[in-house]
Amino acid sequence: MVKINRNYLKLKAGYLFPEISRRVSAFSEAQPNASLIRLGIGDVTEPLPEACCQAMKDAIEEMGSSSGFHGYGPEQGYLWLREAIAKNDFQSRGCQISADEIFVSDGSKCDSSNILDILGEGNRIAVTDPVYPVYVDSNVMSGRTGEADQLGQYDGLTYLPLNSENCFEAELPREPVDLIYLCFPNNPTGAVASKEHLEKWVDYANKNNALILFDAAYEAFIQDPLLPHSIFEIDGARDCAIEFRSFSKKAGFTGTRCAYTVIPRSLKGLAANGTEVDLWTLWNRRQSTKFNGVSYIVQRGAEAVYSLSGQSQTEKLVSFYMENASIIRKELSSVGYKVFGGEHAPYVWVKAPKGQGSWQFFDFLLQNANVVGTPGSGFGTAGEGFFRLSAFNTRENVEEAMRRIISL
Ligand SMILES: *Cc1c(COP(=O)(O)O)cnc(C)c1O
Repeated sequence: MVKINRNYLKLKAGYLFPEISRRVSAFSEAQPNASLIRLGIGDVTEPLPEACCQAMKDAIEEMGSSSGFHGYGPEQGYLWLREAIAKNDFQSRGCQISADEIFVSDGSKCDSSNILDILGEGNRIAVTDPVYPVYVDSNVMSGRTGEADQLGQYDGLTYLPLNSENCFEAELPREPVDLIYLCFPNNPTGAVASKEHLEKWVDYANKNNALILFDAAYEAFIQDPLLPHSIFEIDGARDCAIEFRSFSKKAGFTGTRCAYTVIPRSLKGLAANGTEVDLWTLWNRRQSTKFNGVSYIVQRGAEAVYSLSGQSQTEKLVSFYMENASIIRKELSSVGYKVFGGEHAPYVWVKAPKGQGSWQFFDFLLQNANVVGTPGSGFGTAGEGFFRLSAFNTRENVEEAMRRIISL
């Protein structure tokens, strides 16, 4: 019989979201008339910006004509999209990133896990706790960790706890690490990094020859003009960082699929024989072999995000969700909940009241307010006692959910 990848057996069987579904189904069966409001899942709810829809409709028309037909595109993405990205997302903020350093893809989830293809074994890896589960599970699947302990922490990973004492900014690792996953604005805590905080990490990475994998999927939600959107706003980051960006949350592309990864030309890794190798070249080789590009239609849709109308429509989309987040923060604070995040991210990280555990509070809200959120402990041990509420929903649902919670 065929042998399986034994690393998959180490995974803590996708515990979080299946367990939420199980509890929600059980509740719905017992109380079929209850109207549930779901503030749990990190998926957008508003329709695509009109500019993106129109661009994709036009692209479909083109594809249906002999003169406008496109077959396989460049594996790195079309140059017109990469140029729009370089100019609008980086050069406009003073980052020296060129179109050539951008790789368009169908998602940051795949990029942030596929990147391990070009990195060796034996790297010491740091993740925050709580964390976006993809970073951990992709390391487990590729055999870069040992087994999980009772707390669900994997042998071989360095966990950097995030809590209210450190303002949800991880402290530098005490033991040396080679690879560091950072996500700002953060999923799940909603925290954002100051320029000084990112400088600390870039300095650490350059001194220790470490690589930072910087996930900026939520950068569009940053409200304060002084906060950095990209790790490349920090001097020295070109020598130590890769950045992941996505159109998913910013422009409602979770179901349309388009993202990109930035790998500076100057970024190096170490070969076994001690020579330095360009990571750009390895990723380019990886993508050319294993990936055939994002559809022409979708790339035209993504390009439209940078048009004048696209910019104003995506700004409106982001403000809509951020107003939801601000309602959640305000209403919960008004009755004494301790809330974090939600100011530069579509997630509010709530401290469960009266020392309740994350799942206890989950059940309490489900039973009494018929509101579904995400238990913080599902994102890591240090998330215990916290709860994530998402601002991705209709205004009506957010307001109703808050009315129910504050009247408890
Ligand atoms: C939603 C999300 C992404 C985006 O993933 P896509 O595959 O591009 O949809 C990336 N990172 C984090 C932390 C996210 O929450």
